Amino acid sequence: MIDNLISFFQNFHVFFNQSPILFYTTVGLISLVIGSFLNVVIYRLPKIMEYTWYHECREFLADEVTDIKPKEMTAITLSKPDSTCPNCNHKIRYYENIPVISWLFLKGKCSNCTTKISARYPLVELSTMLLSLVVAHHFGPTAETFWVLLLTWSLISLTMIDFDHMLLPDQITLPLLWLGLLLNINGTFVPLTDAVIGAAVGYMSLFSVFWLFKLLTGKEGMGFGDFKLFAVFGAWLGWQLLPLLILMASVVGAIIGISLLLFKNHNKEQGIPFGPYLAIAGWITLLWGNGIWTWYLQTIS
Ligand SMILES: [Zn+2]
Repeated sequence: MIDNLISFFQNFHVFFNQSPILFYTTVGLISLVIGSFLNVVIYRLPKIMEYTWYHECREFLADEVTDIKPKEMTAITLSKPDSTCPNCNHKIRYYENIPVISWLFLKGKCSNCTTKISARYPLVELSTMLLSLVVAHHFGPTAETFWVLLLTWSLISLTMIDFDHMLLPDQITLPLLWLGLLLNINGTFVPLTDAVIGAAVGYMSLFSVFWLFKLLTGKEGMGFGDFKLFAVFGAWLGWQLLPLLILMASVVGAIIGISLLLFKNHNKEQGIPFGPYLAIAGWITLLWGNGIWTWYLQTIS
């Protein structure tokens, strides 16, 4: 049994090479399920962090806060408690939790109290599937696909969490940083030297911009999460592509910024987080960066 399993994993790229349909179907279905899990991460991870911070702060301020009534907060994890309708607490049954299909079948409403379920959930699942298929098409049935899928899925959660809370959790950025460095030990994407310099330059460059901006204007334009995310891309792509990434991030930023102003009458006071631009630009650079860079250099010269 185990031997069969090992031989399957050693030969799976052969199966997938012989049958592209099987390959894309597998990636498509797995990424739909992952998309559903990402919805949970996007919704719950910030709540878990808030819970932890609150209790750490209370512990730290032990004597000072005894007269302040503790806030009602329930401990949650990614798996507990089960998902419920936020309005009527109706427990979501397994067949109401099938990615995209359940939402369409329920016509976007809770089966018990008919409260609207946000279209965001099926959209996150669909985008996860589409982006995963692009990665699968780009890298083919290789180990690279697997690693880039992990990165893609993490970037989707980072993008959404940053949009919601202006927060890029260390729980996601730091493992990605280590993973990029480890993968490049045998040069999976770039030589290790480029990756190590990339990680350091990535962090330090935005860190310097942050302080310069703060000294000049007294405002904080970015958070420490942004430096870490830029370091992640340095570790995966090497330092050479970082200038292109920043260029792309400003293009993505302009497009998203303008569309938010046009379509959503976005509150200008609220500010727009920088993380999503970095994440989207970094993903595009990972897939097509070298081509874009060559084209850009030819165009300006
Ligand atoms: Zn309900």
